[in-house]
Amino acid sequence: MTAANPDCLFCKILAGEIPAEIVYESDTAIAFRDINPQAPTHVVVIPRKHIATINDVTPDDEAVVGSLYSAAGAIAVAEGFADEGYRVVMNCNAAAGQTVFHIHLHLLGGRTLTWPPG
Ligand code: 5GP
Ligand code: ZN
Repeated sequence: MTAANPDCLFCKILAGEIPAEIVYESDTAIAFRDINPQAPTHVVVIPRKHIATINDVTPDDEAVVGSLYSAAGAIAVAEGFADEGYRVVMNCNAAAGQTVFHIHLHLLGGRTLTWPPG
């Protein structure tokens, strides 16, 4: 398969052009382990559809974006920390630290997480 957006790292992972440890797949989303984990479990959940930032999400995307959250919940159960607790966060643009411009939830679990984040 060819990446939907050939300039996008996560489209390349979706297309199998860059390897990743995939932990979840559905019709609308996939999830894989972050290459630079910030917690014992750090999984990135992405839509199959290329959407650059939260600013580009439209009402037509609501089901797809919602599916990222059901994916995150299912992965938290599979990883064993759903009851204990975990964090799901999506960065938007430079000030929040977004570096890959294909929206993604970070799912962080397996340790106590402080608030507020940096
Ligand atoms: P952002 O900074 O855009 O919110 O998050 C991008 C995330 O993608 C970072 O946590 C970064 O470690 C992760 N990442 C960047 N390149 C790769 C890669 O090639 N493979 C995987 N699995 N994760 C990546
Ligand atoms: Zn993409």
